[in-house]
Amino acid sequence: MNQTKYIFVTGGVTSSLGKGIIAASLAKLLQARGYRTTIQKFDPYINVDPGTLNPYEHGECYVTDDGAETDLDLGHYERFLNVPTSQANNVTTGRVYLSVIEKERRGEFLGKTVQVVPHITNEIKERMQLLGNSGNYDIVITEIGGTVGDIESLPYIESVRQLIWDLGESNSIVIHLTLVPYLAAAGELKTKPTQHSVKTLMESGIKADILVCRTEHELSDELRQKMASFCNVSRDSVIQSIDVSTIYEVPNLMLEEGLDVVTLKKLNLPKKNTPDLKNWNVFLQHLKNPKHVVNIGLIGKYVELQDSYKSILEAFIHAGAANETKVNVVSVHSEYIDAHNVGEKFKDLDGVLVAPGFGERGIEGKIEAVRYAREKNIPFFGICLGMQMAVIEYSRNVLGLKDSNSTEMNEGTANPVIDLMEEQKTVTDKGGTMRLGSWKCDIKDNTLARMIYGKAQIEERHRHRYEYNGEYAESLEKSGLKSSGINPDTGLVEIVELPNHPFFIGVQYHPEYKSTVANPHPLFVSFVEATVKAKKK
Ligand code: GLN
Repeated sequence: MNQTKYIFVTGGVTSSLGKGIIAASLAKLLQARGYRTTIQKFDPYINVDPGTLNPYEHGECYVTDDGAETDLDLGHYERFLNVPTSQANNVTTGRVYLSVIEKERRGEFLGKTVQVVPHITNEIKERMQLLGNSGNYDIVITEIGGTVGDIESLPYIESVRQLIWDLGESNSIVIHLTLVPYLAAAGELKTKPTQHSVKTLMESGIKADILVCRTEHELSDELRQKMASFCNVSRDSVIQSIDVSTIYEVPNLMLEEGLDVVTLKKLNLPKKNTPDLKNWNVFLQHLKNPKHVVNIGLIGKYVELQDSYKSILEAFIHAGAANETKVNVVSVHSEYIDAHNVGEKFKDLDGVLVAPGFGERGIEGKIEAVRYAREKNIPFFGICLGMQMAVIEYSRNVLGLKDSNSTEMNEGTANPVIDLMEEQKTVTDKGGTMRLGSWKCDIKDNTLARMIYGKAQIEERHRHRYEYNGEYAESLEKSGLKSSGINPDTGLVEIVELPNHPFFIGVQYHPEYKSTVANPHPLFVSFVEATVKAKKK
């Protein structure tokens, strides 16, 4: 077996430079050149996973097939590469320490003092090589979360230093992302922050091999030369990453800048074929030249932060391109929707998506949004909590059970149409205990869902504790709300829909996690198509 090569991606100067997008773009190019490539992310926080974080803290929690609650960057990896990730692709400091402490309790280090070096660093190094050692990959890209110089990233940086040494010549490189700010007053781009952050990295014993410089303006040759010589890298290792209108342009930009070529050169790997980005560019072409425009309301309570609904926004981009349609996602805060203002708030919307979520805040607004979309024949799509709200709304306003609710919102409700799943009733811990990951769903014949998916069985990813209460299924079905998708093993209702409506579908799972550039999710594609039709009418 050939030696797996490792690429470490670090960040300097500031956070939010887009390490995840650069890592995903480079991976895309290497993949397109014929290298089996994967990406993993190491996060410096102490939560064992981001599942216990509020979206305001860290953006969306992304869920993998194997049920890991992970950083949203894994979503970018999947959307770019079209290859599923897993638990092994995301490690946090909390997970590392938990594992080391458990080993200590079992006596695996008996007699020794357990320390950051070597015990924590060994654990990190082992996890950094887990995917590489599987034999499934030629290249593993490891993104180190946080910014170089942070106290909490030190053990990772030290582990990278050791691992580079362990792996030996040409088997690993470090790509350092920095910011080259533009000082308007001076009318100049400034390289000093880059020099300082490369130096900080150097103090930890790591030499950056390639610099990716985030900038709002073109870097001149002179400036590139200066950074190369002051930061000890070759001239072709100074890569410009200029601001672009969509993250999906970044792979092409990195190709133009030669990031993949210089990476392969430093790893002593052949260039193989020129990357084939034909399908990718067709997607970009559609994305940039839409024939239609629609406004879709995203009804949620974390709308202030873009990253809270990252995968949903990206799924709309994929589905929009598939329909040659620009989807304007209009965020509507569910807390401020009521029966009096819903008409005004929704007057320009061609479709309504009620978002996933937890807890009571903003619930009545979501129910009102469903009612409006249902009664006014506006295409409706409910995801997870959004599906649950659709069931409650129907039960209250069509079935006439006015006090219907989810026991998540009102434990003592007389009509718990949404109730805690049986297996959740004994669960007390909050971390990693939801119904997570991929589960099967059988789709009934002659339903909208069946038509959209074009098959009788699907697998989708989940993240929930509550479910559609089967005791109400018969009466809800009779009054018109169809259960069109069912888990074959447990009978759990996965999809509800309304016939005699232009488009009304609610799903207990999260289709947004599986939408990629290569495979836009069929539910999003059909929903966008329905909004285009609705608008024409
Ligand atoms: N809070 C709901 C549940 O736990 C929905 C979860 C979600 O939208 N992801 O079932």
